[in-house]
Amino acid sequence: MNDLIIIGGGVCGCSLLYELSRYKISALLLEKENDVACGTSKANSGIVHAGYDPEPGTVMARLNVEGNILIEKLCTDLDITYKKTGSLVVGFDETDRKTIEKLYEKGVKNGVPDQKIISGEELFRLEPNLSREVVCALYAPSAGVIAPWELALAQAECAVQGGGKSRT
Ligand SMILES: Cc1cc2nc3c(=O)[nH]c(=O)nc-3n(C[C@H](O)[C@H](O)[C@H](O)COP(=O)(O)OP(=O)(O)OC[C@H]3O[C@@H](n4cnc5c(N)ncnc54)[C@H](O)[C@@H]3O)c2cc1C
Repeated sequence: MNDLIIIGGGVCGCSLLYELSRYKISALLLEKENDVACGTSKANSGIVHAGYDPEPGTVMARLNVEGNILIEKLCTDLDITYKKTGSLVVGFDETDRKTIEKLYEKGVKNGVPDQKIISGEELFRLEPNLSREVVCALYAPSAGVIAPWELALAQAECAVQGGGKSRT
């Protein structure tokens, strides 16, 4: 008998099992494939987004920025790789610059820390391999990269060690 059943062992289901394993709840994760993280979570781009993209005022915008802050400690706790690389959205002309300015404004509304629009020497010092046709970029230092399947697997493993159950 289980208090709670989670259907699907992608990164969301595994995160839920991990969080619930801290409580006195009997939780069971059911995954239709032969391991967790066999769906979208095994092969996405692995970007820990800074949060300038979601529409301001939405739950996604709030959770993106909050999650970006929480991921660092989570990865340390799970002993998995996380690189806070920062990200650049680059523009090649005035139309791109306007798009980048809109992204920046959304980032301000969403509370993205330390983002700025950069160009010239500052930009090429940060990424020397950029095309010299790039005229500006939105730089968000809080963005990072992660292996999404590793995140899902590590959470599922820790959850099971802590009493959570998983059936594939
Ligand atoms: C090309 C691409 C690039 C992306 N890049 C990024 C990125 O850089 N950064 C980012 O944050 N997000 C990115 N995303 C989004 C991210 O991958 C998803 O939001 C995330 O993986 C969703 O996780 P999930 O657990 O909800 O779903 P999934 O990973 O799809 O997991 C669902 C699981 O449920 C299982 N399942 C389905 N039906 C049943 C059933 N009836 N019974 C049991 N199990 C079932 C499936 O087998 C699967 O394992 C990207 C997505 C795509 C497609």
